[in-house]
Amino acid sequence: MDRSLLVIGVGFMGGSFALAIRRGGFEGPIYGIDINPASIEKAKELGVIDGGSTRLEEIGRFSPDIVVLASPVRTFVGIAKGIRPHLKENALITDLGSVKGNLVFRLEEILGPRFVGSHPIAGTEKSGVENSFGELFEGKKVVITPTDRTDREALEDVVKLWNLTGGKVEFMDPLLHDWVFGAVSHLPHAVAFALIDALIEMSDGVDLFKYPGAGFKDFTRIAASDPVMWRDIFLENRENVLKAIDIYQSSLNKLRDLIESGSEDELTEYLKEARSRRISLE
Ligand code: NAD
Repeated sequence: MDRSLLVIGVGFMGGSFALAIRRGGFEGPIYGIDINPASIEKAKELGVIDGGSTRLEEIGRFSPDIVVLASPVRTFVGIAKGIRPHLKENALITDLGSVKGNLVFRLEEILGPRFVGSHPIAGTEKSGVENSFGELFEGKKVVITPTDRTDREALEDVVKLWNLTGGKVEFMDPLLHDWVFGAVSHLPHAVAFALIDALIEMSDGVDLFKYPGAGFKDFTRIAASDPVMWRDIFLENRENVLKAIDIYQSSLNKLRDLIESGSEDELTEYLKEARSRRISLE
């Protein structure tokens, strides 16, 4: 691949994607646009991009064949509207966003059938281009969410791009994607943020944050994730996240009832079932 590529939002994911395709043999120039001048400067300094700008209007200067949206998900629609008039007819557009669902259909409406949604199931709680690394996607799942309208050639090209990163591509319906990742990713992040909030509430008179052991730190690692990114994910996948929180609350109530009733056998069964499901993940 020797076409030109533009990443919009040169942070942790956008930077890692640029490094990963370069590592996989992508030979064309890689440019970046980011509203934060420090991100562009840092990305150039680290050799993540070959050039960049803080102004979306300057997209024409880079004349990209491929555009990758890698900013927080609630910026995508505005960016898509802003870049549409300046795109080459055959430009391929994809994204790295954690939410697909209706967002994919809205972006397709604006950008046309050469927009193909994708979501790498790889990441950390770190943000910023300074934390990006090219091995991030190696062996990790990448969920691509084509629709009935998706251009087949564009879809093949997006798969080829992800193959360069070492990611393992899977296809999924965009709406199903949001239910699945609402449950296995967005809910755990909500729970981790809420657990920290609960401890703040309980730290009345004694600073509970002085005492956490490894379990608490493992469990809440993801609450150190970027607030703007997670605000956008919760709001953009609101319906699924709310349903998942409701189901979680009833599971927590079930556990609460078992503890309150003091029923040893039933409580052991509940914990055994959860333990064996968790162990089967390994
Ligand atoms: P990040 O904060 O490291 O990077 C986001 C970058 O976007 C920042 O440099 C920011 O300045 C820039 N930005 C914000 N608004 C912009 C705008 N309007 N125009 C141009 N640039 C803008 O965040 P990240 O972790 O790289 O996440 C980026 C995307 O990747 C999000 O959509 C997120 O849902 C998705 N994602 C993240 C992870 C993860 O673990 N971090 C995993 C999978 C998917």
